[in-house]
Amino acid sequence: MTTTSSLNTEAVRQTIEARLEVLHDEIVGKLGEMAEVLQSLDHIGDRADLSVADDTSSSDLADASRDIAEYRQGLAALKRLDHDLYGICTDCAEPIPDDRLQAQPFAVRCRDCQTHSEKASGIRHESM
Ligand SMILES: [Zn+2]
Repeated sequence: MTTTSSLNTEAVRQTIEARLEVLHDEIVGKLGEMAEVLQSLDHIGDRADLSVADDTSSSDLADASRDIAEYRQGLAALKRLDHDLYGICTDCAEPIPDDRLQAQPFAVRCRDCQTHSEKASGIRHESM
């Protein structure tokens, strides 16, 4: 079975690893900011300050959650690469088109299955 014959797996691996590095830095940065916000919460006395801190931490948390979800997809993509499963749709087992993989290196489904999956779940974002 030559499922990855059309893929340059080394190039794909490098693309994914580069993206993972960026994500890692972003996550560490955002969690670091959140840790500072949490620390500052200990010293906040009045409600006005507290609401500002709340806004900051919740938007950072949302960003960090998205990054962490993408990071996990990236790790899964690397694992799939190791097992010669990269570029194969997890739902219908058909090859995912190259142009889709280039646009979204972490994609695990072909377009049809992704659309189907999003419709079925009713939401577009990953749940943590
Ligand atoms: Zn599919």
